[in-house]
Amino acid sequence: MTAIKLGIVGVGKIATDQHLPAIAANGDFHLLASASRNASIDGLPGFTSIDEMLARQPEIEAVALCMPPQHRYQAAHAALTAGKHVFMEKPPGATLSEVADLEKLAQAKGVTLFASWHSRHAPAVQVMKSFLAKHAPSKVEVIWKEDVRHWHPGQEWIWEAGGLGVFDPGINALSIVTEILPNAMFLKSGVLEFPANRDAPIAADLRFTDATGLAVHAAFDWRQTGKQSWEINVATGAGELRMADGGAKLWIDGVAQELPEEGEYPSLYRHFASLVKNGQSDVDLSPLRHVADAFMLGKRKEVEAFDS
Ligand code: NAP
Repeated sequence: MTAIKLGIVGVGKIATDQHLPAIAANGDFHLLASASRNASIDGLPGFTSIDEMLARQPEIEAVALCMPPQHRYQAAHAALTAGKHVFMEKPPGATLSEVADLEKLAQAKGVTLFASWHSRHAPAVQVMKSFLAKHAPSKVEVIWKEDVRHWHPGQEWIWEAGGLGVFDPGINALSIVTEILPNAMFLKSGVLEFPANRDAPIAADLRFTDATGLAVHAAFDWRQTGKQSWEINVATGAGELRMADGGAKLWIDGVAQELPEEGEYPSLYRHFASLVKNGQSDVDLSPLRHVADAFMLGKRKEVEAFDS
């Protein structure tokens, strides 16, 4: 396959930290240009909008969309309409309905739509999934607690409606849980804590179950100073799985596991290349659906105002 000519849209933290190195290391992609209102990439043509980029560089075959989720639909719609393959950062959109619309458009245009979930590509995830396919889980505990001031400085969009607040990292945990569990889970109850001056939650406590009555508890909190926790613990009859560092580390019954070395973003781009090559899309909305359910079913509690 000749390298897929790529454009990247929304040059911020994740584009710079992860997408650019992963693209540079993958011979299946050739980065041609960027589109971002303020930022650009050294040595590449830079445009201030996706429309301008697609008009001026029609040879682009695919785009990676790295802007905040509230603006993903418009960009994805423009790219799909122009017949380009689309890689969307997580979360894939601000609503479920808009992503369903994109899915239909991609199908009609015969191009690939990839709603990526980077945490599913963490080294521990497929090992946990294989283990749980053989040994049924009896209890799941998710602890996703980080310091928003450290990880999201200056990101005002994350506190706005559609920015998801603490679900921006929490959806990563949900993307792992929905990948590794053998049965579909669904929300039973939840409490969402909203700072008095914000439109998105700073913490969430969620209780899920499945058809077998499995108890899945998730605690997300953005007020965590000191030790940061991105952990999932799963009890089974054959021992406990303990996943840490967002899926970079795994112990089974106290024994540290040897894990694959490929990073999340190199794995994501390998998957995207294979989807394009095989004429497929990959759009699993279950993590976003659980977040939507939490907003629908969860109790809302107002907590003290948050100033960054
Ligand atoms: P970010 O640093 O704020 O970068 C996003 C970029 O998008 C901005 O720098 C901005 O560049 C552009 N943009 C376009 N329209 C925008 C608008 N209306 N408001 C604000 N920015 C706009 O955010 P990020 O951390 O890279 O996150 C982007 C996406 O990646 C999010 O969906 C996030 O969940 C996901 N993600 C982030 C991380 C992480 O560790 N940060 C990890 C995985 C996934 P211009 O000003 O040049 O337009």
